[in-house]
Amino acid sequence: MHEEGKLPDLVIDVTEAQLVDSAQEYTFRTKPVRRFPCRVCGASGARDSSNGLCWICRRLKISAWRESEG
Ligand SMILES: [Zn+2]
Repeated sequence: MHEEGKLPDLVIDVTEAQLVDSAQEYTFRTKPVRRFPCRVCGASGARDSSNGLCWICRRLKISAWRESEG
């Protein structure tokens, strides 16, 4: 039987795609990642969550802590 007026599957796919786009946009707006030069070596990539250090200096600092704890 052919049913008239039933929405094709394509409409659902487009709606889901729009939901994904808006979700990604929402994530970017609500989670701004502030990046600035590392306060030790000046390399870009430092964040607030890493105490102003780039990931390299952060690892060096962590390894230094472990050695001092020895
Ligand atoms: Zn650094």
